[in-house]
Amino acid sequence: MPELPEVEVSRRGLLPYLPGQSIVRTVVRAPKLRHEIPPDLPGRLAGARVTAIDRRGKYLLFACEGRQGNGYLILHLGMSGSLRLVPNDTPPQKHDHVDLVFADTTLRLRDPRRFGTVLWHAGPPEAHPLIAVLGIEPLSPAFDGDWLYAATRKRKTPIKPLLMDSHLIVGIGNIYAAESLFRAGIAPTCPAGSLSRPRCQRLAAAIRATLQEAVDAGGSSVRDYVHSDGGAGSFQLACAVYGRQDAPCTACGVPIRVVRQGGRATFFCPRCQR
Ligand SMILES: [Zn+2]
Repeated sequence: MPELPEVEVSRRGLLPYLPGQSIVRTVVRAPKLRHEIPPDLPGRLAGARVTAIDRRGKYLLFACEGRQGNGYLILHLGMSGSLRLVPNDTPPQKHDHVDLVFADTTLRLRDPRRFGTVLWHAGPPEAHPLIAVLGIEPLSPAFDGDWLYAATRKRKTPIKPLLMDSHLIVGIGNIYAAESLFRAGIAPTCPAGSLSRPRCQRLAAAIRATLQEAVDAGGSSVRDYVHSDGGAGSFQLACAVYGRQDAPCTACGVPIRVVRQGGRATFFCPRCQR
């Protein structure tokens, strides 16, 4: 599943090419992904100029100045979506569901499992129901240990599922939650409200560093990423705990354990994480 770093790398990969360009036409080959694609979308986007590409959580927000008014194309990659820039004469393949055709390039959404989202919103994106419910951005300056400490007081929920709650913090998927907790030395089952301020500071720093490293890893190959015709899934991360059940901990050698939390597998080191 595309996680926040992949979405951010997609955004950065598109920035040199799309802002300032106008959409010649929009091709919708599948009328319904996770939500119905608005039938009037191609009309709204015809001739519209993309002025910026922002991101909120895992939503890409294409600011558009259109003949029928300004607004935002809201795009989510869902479970299996990927974006590519391809030459305009590239034949679509089976799962290529939406094209934004520009004068010199086509932005193509491939989404085999059809859990992606393509919507139009005329007002400010933060007012859209899908965006309004989103929590804090972990890569924003507002996210730090003091924020995390205040946000977790009186919460009895284990810290790991809380980190993955997008109403609180966006974009921390299973891999990044597990790796951040290992890095901070915090057990995933620890009640969130019991974390001291210094531990919250370590955890916030670990989350930021883990996400930033993934963005940087993708950013170094960003050109290949958006122009690639291969699958653009998750980056190959060097995971310390995720997916390493029974393998020796890289720090202490004790076998990595796995527990279920909220239906998800949680990997952790029983010695390093308290
Ligand atoms: Zn260990």
